[in-house]
Amino acid sequence: MSKVIIAWFRQDLRIRDNPVLAEVLRRDAAVLPVYIHAPEEDGAWAPGAASRWWLYHALAGLAGDLEALGLPLVIRRGSPEEALTSIVASMRGAGHPVDSVACARVYEPDRVQHDEQVREVLDEVGVGWWQGNASLLIEPEHVCNKSGDPFRVFTPFWKHLRGLPPEPPVAVDADRLEAPDHVPDSLALDDLELLPTRSWDDGIAAAWDPSPAGARTVLEDFVEERVTAYKRCRDVPGVNGTSRLSPYLHSGQVGPRQVWAAVHAAGGADNDGGFTFLSEVAWREFAYHLLHHFPRTTDEPMYEKYRDFPWAPDPQALQAWQKGRTGYPFVDAGMRQLWKTGWMHNRVRMVAASFLVKHLLQPWQDGARWFWDTLVDADLASNTMGWQWVAGSGADAAPYFRIFNPFGQGEKFDPDGDYVREFVPELAGLPDKYIHRPWEAPDEVLAKAGVVLGETYPEPIIEHRAGRQRALDALEATRQQA
Ligand code: FAD
Repeated sequence: MSKVIIAWFRQDLRIRDNPVLAEVLRRDAAVLPVYIHAPEEDGAWAPGAASRWWLYHALAGLAGDLEALGLPLVIRRGSPEEALTSIVASMRGAGHPVDSVACARVYEPDRVQHDEQVREVLDEVGVGWWQGNASLLIEPEHVCNKSGDPFRVFTPFWKHLRGLPPEPPVAVDADRLEAPDHVPDSLALDDLELLPTRSWDDGIAAAWDPSPAGARTVLEDFVEERVTAYKRCRDVPGVNGTSRLSPYLHSGQVGPRQVWAAVHAAGGADNDGGFTFLSEVAWREFAYHLLHHFPRTTDEPMYEKYRDFPWAPDPQALQAWQKGRTGYPFVDAGMRQLWKTGWMHNRVRMVAASFLVKHLLQPWQDGARWFWDTLVDADLASNTMGWQWVAGSGADAAPYFRIFNPFGQGEKFDPDGDYVREFVPELAGLPDKYIHRPWEAPDEVLAKAGVVLGETYPEPIIEHRAGRQRALDALEATRQQA
């Protein structure tokens, strides 16, 4: 095999259903797997601490799977064009010229721009460029509404998506993959310094198995055991009712085509649970659609009228929220689940995010940054859409005046308080009646539960009705300016 293709892994850290590897086989070439760590290129959106933890383990798993096929993973750090041209030179020098670089498409605006530069640099040194789709069911520019514009509303987007013939996972005959005779130098994975130097990751390690086997098990268990109950359980954070596939989907250890096919194969798409679950996977597609068509929304509101929203930045309020010390148990449980496990249940993400932007009037961008650093599934498309949705400033967003009640939501979706008791253990002794509103508990009830408000657990940082009214007034002021 004389032809060599570099398979540049990015957010497609898997072998099965990987279109890049399928392309190498189709062209009968040897494959040189490469990973380049380039946080500087991502600027403000370089992977956060929890994502780096995940990335370390995902890369270790990928390297192990490739090794088992006799394919060493070449790891580099720094600008992709420099790393790739240096690898190309090394291969050329050893008499094994590189035919082309093949990679899966990425959609983060900075990376999209950068890919163009990489392609040009490779072109200058006579190396080809190929891109495929490993991350989405449908490419963002392949779908538009009846007027030919991007969708801004989810329901017609979902209707359109589910009417398309499903794309099956890409077949990769991995045993046919062959390494070239020469392999350039590689860094060790530890050289990328992805893991924390202080150990704050015990809770994350206990909550997740980020290996390739872990990815397979999470998908299989979900479609075999839990997908049919998804519709009923998905909003209850105290039960294991959702798939927890998000970090695997973000890193590409599992692809959406595999998820789609697994749900259909298990017959899940025909029941309410499977159908609802697939519609959530479609929200992820919608997020990428929006990121592609409205790239500036990572930092700016989608709609102009929210540009001058009268936020009231307050570092102390932001910190109380980050630490899970707002005095609202449901919000605090979510924020502590996030800190401890690197993940937060979707219902609680909505309530906690709403509390920050509405009750506390903190800019949604500050919340998005915190999530970015602490989520193992931090994903620029979904995080941006989630925060804009909550703030009321994005596509298909919740109207600003719809303000989640931070204890009412707890009483509705965590009626027995199991979730709060798990993550806010200092309240565990309170009866169900007061678990979501400890400030209403009589003194003797608090004393019996060992709760001293303002000492063992904070008083509410803002009274609910006052916070709600302040948010509505801020909205009204924005409306009058518009
Ligand atoms: P399931 O309920 O099992 O859903 C299956 C898959 O569908 C998920 O893994 C995810 O890929 C996708 N999905 C489900 N709900 C959504 C949604 N609302 N938006 C986009 N995709 C969805 N998701 C991320 O993956 N990364 C983020 O950084 C992120 N930030 C968010 C920020 C806010 C403020 C909010 C409200 C939501 C955010 N979400 C984010 C969406 C959602 O909360 C998570 O995808 C979901 O909780 C992941 O858990 P799961 O895998 O068990 O989901």
